[in-house]
Amino acid sequence: MQYRKDKYGNKLSILGFGCMRFQKKGSKIDIEEAEKEILEAFNAGVNYYDTAYVYSGSEAAIGEIFERNNMRDRINIATKLPQYLISSRNAIDKYFNEELSRLRTDHVDYYLMHHMTDVAMWEKLKKIGILEWIQEKKRAGAIRNIGFSYHGNTENFLKILNDYDWDFCQIQYNYLDEVSQAGVDGLKAAAAKGIPVIIMEPLRGGKLVNMLPEKARKAMQASGRGWSPAEWAFRWLYNQPEVTVVLSGMNSVEMVEENVRIASETQAGSFTEKEFAVLEKVKEEIKAHEKVGCTGCRYCMPCPKGVDIPGIFRCYNAMYTENKREGRFQFAQTVGLTKEPSFASQCVECGKCEKHCPQNIPIREKLKEADKALRPLPYKIGINVVRKFMFRKRSKK
Ligand code: SF4
Ligand code: SF4
Repeated sequence: MQYRKDKYGNKLSILGFGCMRFQKKGSKIDIEEAEKEILEAFNAGVNYYDTAYVYSGSEAAIGEIFERNNMRDRINIATKLPQYLISSRNAIDKYFNEELSRLRTDHVDYYLMHHMTDVAMWEKLKKIGILEWIQEKKRAGAIRNIGFSYHGNTENFLKILNDYDWDFCQIQYNYLDEVSQAGVDGLKAAAAKGIPVIIMEPLRGGKLVNMLPEKARKAMQASGRGWSPAEWAFRWLYNQPEVTVVLSGMNSVEMVEENVRIASETQAGSFTEKEFAVLEKVKEEIKAHEKVGCTGCRYCMPCPKGVDIPGIFRCYNAMYTENKREGRFQFAQTVGLTKEPSFASQCVECGKCEKHCPQNIPIREKLKEADKALRPLPYKIGINVVRKFMFRKRSKK
């Protein structure tokens, strides 16, 4: 195994165990199988295990496995505060104490504000006293590193990143998301501040393996490297020294063995021009199914009316390069549920953005098309209901 360092110089295995996809026995986690996989990873040097309050049964399962195998002091647990469920200081304590009890531990090594998509979420947490709470827990040794996991756009990521002295952060990042969500700009900004970056969704939820167009697969095969689609994706990430840990939701011993092999072989900076060219070809094939040729360069931004132009186009494209549900889901996450609305319907057709677009995209026309596809009536109603719940009617817990 290879290791990179956290903010305080502690060694983290570059492969992290994502604990949300364990096999099930009936409706419960197959604990025997999960234990085999975890022990295989542990014996190979994996020392970072990522879970969350909302990953059903996961915290309790790994707590049991770590205790039974006497592993607690030799591994790092990362878990998350379900901040979207919280509106009072008491609720923070309630969730945190429940997590400690499920994990059978008195401290969390890496604690994250879960699923931030918007700076408003961070502001809300600050209002209910999260800064004092973090300080208290760190002083008591109950939290060793504090961070956040993120799914919104680059601007909001940078705002949250720069608003606090974080110990680490976690972002969705893979060769297809190089310029979306926090993106490469977010990754580099965090690294420049000395903040370790944990990567989630290295395979885009398996899509970079299961849903690759035939021509993309062929481009990989023709390279003669002999790497599987997953290996291409992992190697692209490990190649970047700014990446600290790559999480993989492993659910078989074979998968652990294969991922450990890739993590022990790949060096930062080892990707060749030829290998970059293969992935460019793969992206081209994926993008051939796109509806708008937007590269995500953001030259059109900011829109004076707050429209998230590249974000909307990315989700519109995802409807056709992945599937409709996925595109709409991404839209809800990154555009639909931010506190300041950034819908295409806010466009007043001033045309400012089109003057800056190097791809000469008829942005106004394409935004209308995208909005129609991304927000058919039932989705529009659904998003409005969730927005009302999230931003106006959060009840005290
Ligand atoms: S045309 Fe619409 S999207 Fe473009 S800058 Fe003006 S308001 Fe924003
Ligand atoms: S300038 Fe054009 S290509 Fe760049 S993000 Fe905006 S719409 Fe996309």
